[in-house]
Order: sequence, then structure tokens, then C-alpha cells
Amino acid sequence: MSTGNISFTLQATLLLTLIGLALAASAVATARLLNLRLRWLPRWMRLNWLSDLVLSTNVDQKHIGRRFLVGVANCAAGVLALNVGASLGLIDAQACRWLTLTALVTTGIFYALMRSGLNQRFSDPALTEWQGSSVILFLAWGYLIGGPGRPLALLLLMVILLFSMFTNTPRQLFRACVLAGLSFGSAMACVAWEARAELNAAAMQLVYGCVLLLALSTVSLLIHQMHQLRRQAQVRQQELAEALDRIRDLATHDELTGLINRRRMQELMHTEKHRTVRSGRGFCLAMIDIDHFKRVNDRLGHVAGDEVLARVAGTIAAGLRETDIVARWGGEEFLVMFTDTDEDTAERVLLRIQAALAQTPVTEADPLLRITFSAGVGNHLRDETLTRTIDRADRALYAAKAAGRNRVLHAELPANGAATRVA
Ligand code: GH3
Ligand code: MG
Ligand code: MG
Repeated sequence: MSTGNISFTLQATLLLTLIGLALAASAVATARLLNLRLRWLPRWMRLNWLSDLVLSTNVDQKHIGRRFLVGVANCAAGVLALNVGASLGLIDAQACRWLTLTALVTTGIFYALMRSGLNQRFSDPALTEWQGSSVILFLAWGYLIGGPGRPLALLLLMVILLFSMFTNTPRQLFRACVLAGLSFGSAMACVAWEARAELNAAAMQLVYGCVLLLALSTVSLLIHQMHQLRRQAQVRQQELAEALDRIRDLATHDELTGLINRRRMQELMHTEKHRTVRSGRGFCLAMIDIDHFKRVNDRLGHVAGDEVLARVAGTIAAGLRETDIVARWGGEEFLVMFTDTDEDTAERVLLRIQAALAQTPVTEADPLLRITFSAGVGNHLRDETLTRTIDRADRALYAAKAAGRNRVLHAELPANGAATRVA
């Protein structure tokens, strides 16, 4: 191999390498700008700084910028096609230059608005309708001067309108269709007028006009259907959200009394326990059981019994502070959590509720019937489990029953003395 051949091979290899590197860099840059995932590339090669620099560091602005870039790429393809046509002598070069220049200036204005953040002052910061309208006008202009490439403008118009279906509101889309009809209709009329000497060429514009009308009507129909689908989806979503709320309610509340249920109370007590560990404040638990409730059922029936349960639950809830919580723990048993409270205060509150209950008619089946309850109340101690505190309150409740009912007794402290009082 001669020296000349070697140097040529070297130069060619170098050139091809450079071209390869440039292509790889531009592919990465495009991917970066369009937010494509490039996890397999080393961090320094992902060009994260590029989208920050070209678009914005703000996530929302970046998103708007990316959509803008997709639009610009489509426009650039159209303008490039026109310029190729002009260089082949198929299109008026002067008209093509004007369109290219105006397109560049318009793109520059939109980019400046977005990069400076001025777009945020508009009700729609993405400037969707403004961008869409200018693209439609440019396409109509391209159609006017496009010579044999005119159908391409019609094709691009359809692409733009279909793309807009996912980004624009039905009203905006309808306006875009009207603008397209008017601008393309005018362009077709101009072309037909210019070609009036050639009857076939003028008639062709009529054919294109009919195609445009048909296409726009189809798009309008699609817009309408899509709008209806979106509406239905929204209604479904609303219904689902309501059903979810209902399920959540059913899962956490007791249907008869409206109070929270045992499961929810367990969660709330655990949360409170953690909170008190941090704050150093204490809380109290009280187990309440209606006295001789079986007799109510036996004498007045289960329906009246249910009514009594609901009224008693309401009276207890009404007698508590907003920060205290009462749950239906079992059949005719209730558990109250007195937050940030000691046993004596809790006892006073319970006695007040007992007094209120003594004045409260609890069933229409027997308006004179009055209900009493017994309760056991205990401080939650720092080192004991919640189950242990509940157990102590329960024992105090049974002691209250044994002592004659209609009273509140304090829970005994654990015998081992390991637990310490919090409140
Ligand atoms: P004590 O004073 O010792 O607590 O006597 P009591 O009769 O209240 O206690 P007992 O445990 O013997 O009876 C409780 C009754 O509560 C029995 C059960 O049928 C009734 N009960 C439990 N849940 C419901 C309910 O949801 N509705 C009605 N109507 N009754 C219920
Ligand atoms: Mg009872
Ligand atoms: Mg009971």
C-alpha cells in the first residue's frame, strides 16, 4: 500500500469517526430535549444540562418547551420540503424565502416567550391555540405557494388537527377547524383564480376544496365523539371516587351508630401512642358498657335496642371534646380515647355524660326509659402496650358492674410496677 493510500484511509477514518460522533451527539441531544430515558448511558453523556439550558430548569416549563419542539420539528419538515421544491424550480423561490423568514421569526417569538417565562402570564401558558393557529396559517400559505406539493399541506393540516385532539379543548379545536376552513378555502380560491385560464387546474382546486370540507367535517365529528368519551370518563372517575369514599367510610365506621369502628380506633390509638412518645404528653382510655342492655332488647325488641344504642352513642359523642374520640368497640360497648388528659379529668367528663344520659329519652318505644352505663378508665402508661391499657380499663369496668353499675372506676396500676405514668 502506498503512503498516499494510507493517508487517504486515515483521513477517511477520521472524517467518518467525526461524523459518527456528531450524529451520536445530536441523537442524544434530541433524546434529552424530548425527555427520553437514557439510563443505559453514563451520567456525563446524558446531557441533562442541555434541556436545562435550551428549555428551562422548571419542570412545567420544560414540558411546555418539549411540546413546542415537536411542533417546530413538524413545521421545519414542511418548510424544508418547500425549500427543496424551490431549489428544484417547482416553487416560486421568492415566495418561499418570505415564508421561511416569517416562519423563523414566528418560531423565534414563541421560543423567546417560553424561555423568558412570559408565557406564564397567559391563561394557557403552553400557548396551544396561538401556536396551532399560526401553524394552520403557515400551512395555508404553503398551500398557496406550494405548486405540485399542495396536497402535502392538506396532509400536514390533518396531522396537526388530529394531534390537537389530545392537547386542545373541543372549543379550541372547533375554532381551529373554522380557521383551517377559512384560510385553506381562501388559498384554494386564490390558486383557482390564478389558474382560471386552465380549466382543469382550477377544477382541481374544487376537488381539493371538497376533500378539505369532508376531512374537516370528519374531524369535527371525531372531536364531538372524543369530547363525549372524555365526559363519560370524567363521570366514571367521579363515581369511582365517591364509591371509594363510601368503601373507606364502611371500612372505618359502624353503620348503626355512625361512630368509628374498632379497626379505625386501633389505628388512631397507635398514632396517638407514637405522638405521646414524642411529645411526652399522655392519654386515657375508657371502656364503657351499657347496663342491663339485654333487658331492653328483651322487653322492647331489637329495633328499639338499636335505636337505644344509636342514641347512647350520640349522647357520649356529644359530651366529649373535639379532640377526644369514641368508637363502637363491640355490641353495647364503647371505647373512648381522651387525648392529652389524665384519669381524673376523664372521669369528670364521663360522669357528666352519665348525668346527661339520665335526662335523655333513648327510644320512642318507651319515652320514659332511661339508660345508665358503667365505665372503667385508665391512663396509658409509657411502657405498656395498648392491649394492656384496654385490659386494665376493662377490668375496672367489670369492677364497676360488680359494684352495682352506673359508675366510673379507675383502672388499677400493673402489679410489677414496670410501667410509668405518662399523664
Ligand atoms: P350488663 O349490665 O352486665 O352489661 O348487662 P347487659 O345485659 O348489658 O350485658 P349482656 O352482655 O348480657 O348483654 C348485651 C346485649 O347486647 C346482648 C346482645 O344481644 C345485645 N346487643 C349487642 N349488639 C347489639 C346490637 O347491635 N343491637 C341490639 N339491639 N342489641 C345488641
Ligand atoms: Mg352491658
Ligand atoms: Mg357487654
